[in-house]
Amino acid sequence: MKFLMFGAPMAGKGTLANMLSEDYGLPTISMGDILRNSIANGDEEGVKAKEYMDKGEMVPDEVVCAMIKRRLAAEDVEEGFILDGFPRTPSQLKVFVDQNITDIDVVVSLEVPYEALLSRVVGRRTCKKCGYIYNTSWNLGYESCPKCGGEWGIRSDDNEETYKNRYNVYQNETLPILDYFKKEGKVVTVYGADEPEQSYENLLEALENSNIEGLKEFLDN
Ligand code: AMP
Repeated sequence: MKFLMFGAPMAGKGTLANMLSEDYGLPTISMGDILRNSIANGDEEGVKAKEYMDKGEMVPDEVVCAMIKRRLAAEDVEEGFILDGFPRTPSQLKVFVDQNITDIDVVVSLEVPYEALLSRVVGRRTCKKCGYIYNTSWNLGYESCPKCGGEWGIRSDDNEETYKNRYNVYQNETLPILDYFKKEGKVVTVYGADEPEQSYENLLEALENSNIEGLKEFLDN
């Protein structure tokens, strides 16, 4: 089963993708993580991407398309995956469809009101070692990563100023592409403003109630 996580920045795409991945054994692919790893490695593509990411703008298509094609061609994602962050613009969607990069079976569309998204921005922490995501507003008191003990980091684009730009970019450039997947009958809408466990319950319930081909069998196995 090939999942695409869709929603505004801070909607919980990465968190819910990780929970789904743990329960159903599918690898996650995050375009944002691929870009951040490339920056951390000092790659040429990463150097180019950073100036856009720091402003909350889209990294040019030729950079992200080349990176995602390489990742989706790997053996470990042949049987399925949970993709987050691509395609994100109409031109990326065009490349995705025209070049037949991969098929998507299910698009999970997370709905979270703007005020809730904004309140999550300043609290997000990401483990520097394993990438586990935590938000201080969940108030679980984690001083370090509960998965690996790693130190918390704060993403350089997680501040209110940059967030407003990221949200506008999402509204103007990303949201319109949802229509394509709606027409294909692949969208499952999920209310995601609750804390992770509850949002994950909402997600599983929505998947179970959908009519998407092959999904029931996948969930039951
Ligand atoms: P994310 O981790 O998904 O919030 O992405 C962080 C940042 O990476 C975004 O604000 C963009 O600057 C960049 N980015 C992620 N995915 C894409 C994409 N498909 N196209 C262009 N830029 C992207």
